[in-house]
Amino acid sequence: MTEADGATELQAGAAVMAVRDRPWVEGIVVAVAQGFAEVHTARGDLLCTYRGRLRRQTTPERVSAVGADARPTKPGAGRTAPQRPGHGRAAGAERASEGPMRIATGDRVLVTPLGDSRGVVEELRPRHTTLTRSGGEAGGGHVMLANLDHAVLMFAVRDPIPHFGMLDRYLALCEFAGVEVTICLNKVDLGVPAEVDAAARAYAGLGYRVLLTSARTGAHLAELRACLLSRISLMTGPSGVGKSSLINVLLPDAAQRVSAVSAATGKGRHTTTGARLLPLPDGGWLADSAGIRELALWNVPAEDLARCFVELRPVADDCEYEDCAHGAGEPSCALRVALADGRIAPERFASFERLLGEARGELVGRR
Ligand code: GDP
Ligand code: ZN
Repeated sequence: MTEADGATELQAGAAVMAVRDRPWVEGIVVAVAQGFAEVHTARGDLLCTYRGRLRRQTTPERVSAVGADARPTKPGAGRTAPQRPGHGRAAGAERASEGPMRIATGDRVLVTPLGDSRGVVEELRPRHTTLTRSGGEAGGGHVMLANLDHAVLMFAVRDPIPHFGMLDRYLALCEFAGVEVTICLNKVDLGVPAEVDAAARAYAGLGYRVLLTSARTGAHLAELRACLLSRISLMTGPSGVGKSSLINVLLPDAAQRVSAVSAATGKGRHTTTGARLLPLPDGGWLADSAGIRELALWNVPAEDLARCFVELRPVADDCEYEDCAHGAGEPSCALRVALADGRIAPERFASFERLLGEARGELVGRR
């Protein structure tokens, strides 16, 4: 679907609203539990039921593992993800032609308010990214989060020392999904080891935004807040790096916030399916990390992986042999040439090889 088509659809939607004279409001789904969606609208948060067969205001959508239709939110947002139809592992989980559309956290919706903070979700807007959890052996997938714009990949400068192999994995996934990235290295108040400083510069040199923050002193939190504005972000990273501490600073009242969905179902917040969106004081949304750990469980398909390493992208299509394994014994491999030329750092190439092995199903120890 093109942007122009989207605009036409939106206008058509507006026309329908006017003709029917229904007081529909736009909103964003902040949580989903069985039978209910909590929708944030200009008229407050509405606890909504939704139609079993929601009308879906979109053309059929390609759903991929950490899926996306590879359309960046706005020009220049993130990097352009590889565009190759039909490579999604969860493809077929949801298509417009296949029965009702399941609503997900992050969906933009049209709602009919019913009064008393209740409403009915009438229509779903097209998604621009989908974060999908595997449906298991049977295939299919469950959308954990729709319309993710931005991922904060968080590590500490020390205690624990950063695991850059894990960072490379997250980066590749975000490239694949068309999600913009901020690399956050926390605990800068403890001092930055020289090798971590060098790595931070290297990632910045690749074009990534790198912030050296401290939840303790507040260093560079203004920059972090700025890149969370007006969009849906999630924060992920290993334990102990300060995610909870940082979230407490960014969202002072998050802990006290009672979910309308949880109150309605009386089962507590863990019954929500998928992520929750927590409102940031200055605007924008932070997805809680429940379920987002799943990110680490996905592989980028082997044939797309080189394009998900930004420094390999320019040469990704230059490999001479279609079935090239990009191995050390293939000196004419364009990726190997890039390594020999120093266009990719050995550490990054090692990450690439490791992820490639995993994507090909080779048994490799994973962290
Ligand atoms: P999480 O597991 O990623 O959520 O990490 P926590 O927020 O639980 O933090 C782990 C530990 O690191 C706790 O003891 C925090 O007090 C500490 N910590 C968090 N942020 C900082 C920081 O910016 N500087 C320092 N020195 N310690 C921090
Ligand atoms: Zn090759």
